[in-house]
Amino acid sequence: MKAVVLLGPPGSGKGTLAERLADKLDLVHLSTGDMLRDEVARGTDLGREAKKYMDGGELVPDQLILDMVGGRLTGPRGVLLDGFPRTRAQAEGLEEYTAVDAGLFLELSRDEVVRRLSSRRVCKECGANYNLLTKPPAEDGRCDRCGGELYQRPDDTVEVIARRYDVYLKDSAPLVEYYEKKGILVRVDGSRSPDDVYTQALSALGNA
Ligand code: ADP
Ligand code: ZN
Repeated sequence: MKAVVLLGPPGSGKGTLAERLADKLDLVHLSTGDMLRDEVARGTDLGREAKKYMDGGELVPDQLILDMVGGRLTGPRGVLLDGFPRTRAQAEGLEEYTAVDAGLFLELSRDEVVRRLSSRRVCKECGANYNLLTKPPAEDGRCDRCGGELYQRPDDTVEVIARRYDVYLKDSAPLVEYYEKKGILVRVDGSRSPDDVYTQALSALGNA
């Protein structure tokens, strides 16, 4: 496969699914959110610019995203895209680099999004995700994997989560129909356990 696109609201579990799926399907996992947070942490020009949008839950402008991710789309291996494309312009831009085999839509209700994201904690060192309600770390405030400090993303506050969800509905949700029209959309129930989501996704892609 050349490219699989993950669609779904913030907090629907794209990152968690992407890691396992990429491994199994031998795809390179590209998360634009992780790439941007890395730019922010390194204090690059792009990071400084992107942070203005990210902290308020707004989308980073399409051209910045396409410039950042474009070079990673043309390697010899296929890609699993997590958090990209998020607008119609990005979806069209993507097609100039590579064909898309499938759009995998992780469905999740707004209430569940808010519940999950407000209890999410992330490792400062390795980026591992925890959830205080469903997947707490063994030791308070420390990463199980590397011992790093856990923090709450600045965009995981209740107000910014609400804004991100609205932006998702307006700009990104229409991509579901976009890929449906192309006949390459598959749906997975994102409210299930990570194992169930993974199993469903694999079989859905087998039929894609
Ligand atoms: P989530 O999916 O949980 O909202 P991400 O980590 O994917 O979080 O993205 C965090 C933020 O990074 C977004 O709210 C947005 O500001 C920015 N971002 C990530 N990917 C894109 C993209 N493809 N286009 C525009 N902005 C993006
Ligand atoms: Zn860690």
